[in-house]
Amino acid sequence: MPKPPKIPAKPAKRKVAAKRLAPPEQARIAEIFRRFEEQDSDPRTELDYASPYELVTAVALSAQATDVSVNKATARLFKVADTPAKMLALGEAGLKPFIASIGLYNTKAKNVIATANILIEQYGGEVPLTREALQALPGVGRKTASVVLNELRIEPAIAVDTHVFRVAHRLGLARGKTPDQVEAELMAIVPDPLKTRAHHWLILHGRYVCVARRPKCEDCVVADLCSSKPLFVRG
Ligand code: SF4
Repeated sequence: MPKPPKIPAKPAKRKVAAKRLAPPEQARIAEIFRRFEEQDSDPRTELDYASPYELVTAVALSAQATDVSVNKATARLFKVADTPAKMLALGEAGLKPFIASIGLYNTKAKNVIATANILIEQYGGEVPLTREALQALPGVGRKTASVVLNELRIEPAIAVDTHVFRVAHRLGLARGKTPDQVEAELMAIVPDPLKTRAHHWLILHGRYVCVARRPKCEDCVVADLCSSKPLFVRG
């Protein structure tokens, strides 16, 4: 393994432009993503789906809910409603029992049915795979659209959820105070060929290793590149 680049005691303050990073910082960032790639070269969403419609629906249902709880619900739901037409036939009242274990299910049920209606009326029952059209669907914000477009390899995007936000800060990859700011910083520093997969690497790292309360620094493949480690590990 090549010698790890030197890390600054504190992440350097930076503007959102990769070319302004000092060479050692560029090397550190490249090494972080090289190791994530070495660990898992083809990371994917943990949401179960078999079509763009199922993906959009699952991602919309996953807001403020775990992927595990969404998969449990959609395993049953998609057996009876895996297209906009079938979802519309199921109706809001019919849909609710399938997703009642997921947070905000009343609002989500309303949005899923309204989306099915729009997909049938305006798009012939297909999911329009552009950011603009996706974000115009009820309950589909920028984050959901980014996840869908990235997962389907249509547009590289680094959607920032709570895990990505936390890991980006701890690793000194971003300093932004909002998800949009962090997204812009990450898009500026992650090398182009890795952008599509960076979202998944950061989510998975945050979900299983760099967890919120007690990060597992001893199991972390980028621990020697992380200036936050001393905050969690003594000695
Ligand atoms: S060393 Fe610890 S704090 Fe830093 S990224 Fe790894 S798990 Fe997170």
